[in-house]
Amino acid sequence: MSGCVHVVGGGLAGLSAALEALATGRRVVLYEAGPACGGRARSYEDRQLGCRIDNGNHLLLSANHATFDYLDRIGARDTLAGPGVPMFPFSDIRSDLHWTLRLSRGRIPWWVLDRARRVPGMRLRELLGLVRMLRAGEGTTVSDCLLPGMLADRLMVPLSIAVLNTQPEAGSAMLMAAMMRESLTLGGEACVPWFPRLGLSESLVDPALAHLAAGGALVRTGSRVSGLVTDGRGRVSELVLPEGPGRLGEDDQVVLAVTAPVAAELLAGPLPGQAVPDQFESILNLHYRIALQDRIGGDLGRAGFAGIVGGIAEWVFVKADVVSVTISAANHLAGRDSVSVAAQVWDEIVRVLRPALRPSIQAKTQRGSAPVVLPSAPPPNRVLREKRATFAATTAQQRLRPGSRTDLRNLVLAGDWTDTGLPATIEGAIRSGKSAIRALAGS
Ligand SMILES: Cc1cc2nc3c(=O)[nH]c(=O)nc-3n(C[C@H](O)[C@H](O)[C@H](O)COP(=O)(O)OP(=O)(O)OC[C@H]3O[C@@H](n4cnc5c(N)ncnc54)[C@H](O)[C@@H]3O)c2cc1C
Repeated sequence: MSGCVHVVGGGLAGLSAALEALATGRRVVLYEAGPACGGRARSYEDRQLGCRIDNGNHLLLSANHATFDYLDRIGARDTLAGPGVPMFPFSDIRSDLHWTLRLSRGRIPWWVLDRARRVPGMRLRELLGLVRMLRAGEGTTVSDCLLPGMLADRLMVPLSIAVLNTQPEAGSAMLMAAMMRESLTLGGEACVPWFPRLGLSESLVDPALAHLAAGGALVRTGSRVSGLVTDGRGRVSELVLPEGPGRLGEDDQVVLAVTAPVAAELLAGPLPGQAVPDQFESILNLHYRIALQDRIGGDLGRAGFAGIVGGIAEWVFVKADVVSVTISAANHLAGRDSVSVAAQVWDEIVRVLRPALRPSIQAKTQRGSAPVVLPSAPPPNRVLREKRATFAATTAQQRLRPGSRTDLRNLVLAGDWTDTGLPATIEGAIRSGKSAIRALAGS
């Protein structure tokens, strides 16, 4: 195929498609509506906080092979940080209990037999719930599978909310099982947590753009595509661009890698009836401007993050300039004002961070000879609400996810909302970009 590949959308799905197309020797033009690429995984300078932040904390697992291939392709694997072992510190703030889940490296889950490594208070019988999840059928929810107990309360419920961005009563057990099959069931080697050392853009976006530029791809930011015109012969013949119609060559092909709501709008004319997910869940991220990285020790200091049970805060990340908190499936907080949420979350994370303060700092603080490390009032903060962070990973929405191919022969779809077999994740987005280019090659 000699024509150009036009990629609409500069999130990770679009960047992945553009890189894949370039690797197969195609000419590439990428159109991004916003001022910068990255979409829902981006970093930016926050003037109010006076530092650079990510729109939201993102965690990767060593099992995310497409993401690591992508990082290798753009030479950015070493921009990630993490503990290097499958460890997950947790705090239950209801009972002031702090523990670390330490998975066995291999496939045999020895860790479940060791009280020092597993979830405190869990009973082995509860593991049956995980077996039920792995065997779940299409209409089954996460709650249908889990057995009541501490394994659910202190691990599987928080994990499923993070993975699915949907409450367990509605979350698809099949999607959760898909994640488990690619991680937990393969053993700890597949579950080592990673996150960007500096920021999402520094790891996943800027090196990709540099690679695309070096390969001659054209990336046009501030270039919103507002329509797809078809020629009556089953192909897209024109993209409606801010400066006017952009006519496509006879062999040109289009990857639509925009968000689900934008895809629904753009496809309504040329492909009426095209199914696209239409329910969404929000994610709240709170960034507190406080530099604690050198002051936090123990497992939290080593991992760089911890899970939180028993409050509204769910995950806390201790970064160079900020302490950041994620609350997934956060539609239930839509009516809460940001000031009160920031105060409640700060109160919760102080209970997680205080026991992890390096002992010398704790001692000095008690004698009053050192500045207060953890103020009781929240430090300057930014509350970011991604209202449509991901599609709601319910069993009904799962049925609306389309594959890459469409009825138009030079148009394919990409994005975390397409039928990747995974919940809406970086891994799913990157895989969708690759699948889209493979589908084009076969069209
Ligand atoms: C707060 C938050 C936390 C998350 N945490 C995690 C995590 O820990 N781990 C994980 O794996 N995943 C996580 N995710 C999910 C992950 O960020 C997404 O799955 C992924 O970034 C989606 O990429 P995408 O390319 O499919 O979509 P997007 O990133 O939404 O990209 C779509 C792009 O299309 C552009 N666009 C839209 N309309 C047009 C148009 N008309 N013309 C041109 N361009 C257009 C948009 O501006 C955008 O750049 C999180 C998401 C959020 C929001």
